[in-house]
Amino acid sequence: MSSIQRTFIILKPDAVQRGLTGEILARFERKGLKIIGMKFIKATEAAAKQHYQEHAAKPFFGSLVSFITSSPLVALVLEGDEAVTVARTLIGATDGRKAAPGTIRGDFGCSKSNNLVHGSDSPESAARELAIWFPDALIDWTPCAQTWVAGD
Ligand code: UDP
Ligand code: MG
Repeated sequence: MSSIQRTFIILKPDAVQRGLTGEILARFERKGLKIIGMKFIKATEAAAKQHYQEHAAKPFFGSLVSFITSSPLVALVLEGDEAVTVARTLIGATDGRKAAPGTIRGDFGCSKSNNLVHGSDSPESAARELAIWFPDALIDWTPCAQTWVAGD
């Protein structure tokens, strides 16, 4: 049984600065996740704080907000069968030094803070994050290969 979900992704400032946005986006695309929203923006401090509110009391919160607002990022909305888990699996563990090879963080990073990409951790988090970053309408479209990619 399919469970179509939306997930919110950030190609973080380090991915943009390192010229890895195309490479990372390609991994999500070729997996079969559909892009339904994408923008290149510089995050405001308010959006960054709201996005990472669950970490507000952590010692790294200040540096995390500085990092996310320091330089442009790519904000993405992806849709697909179990998109939340699929994207998190592609992304890999938080610390790039420990993330499995083959994952985005495992292949491109050696840091726990500058770890290239964010992905929602649940459908509920995705809905909360989308309200912050994509209050505007998302684009509904049908990829021509859809029936060839999805399904049990
Ligand atoms: N982070 C950090 N130091 C830490 C843990 C996390 O700077 O010790 C940053 C890192 O960029 C991470 C983000 O805070 O992606 C959110 O942390 P979380 O534990 O939710 O990791 P994620 O869900 O992104 O894997
Ligand atoms: Mg998290």
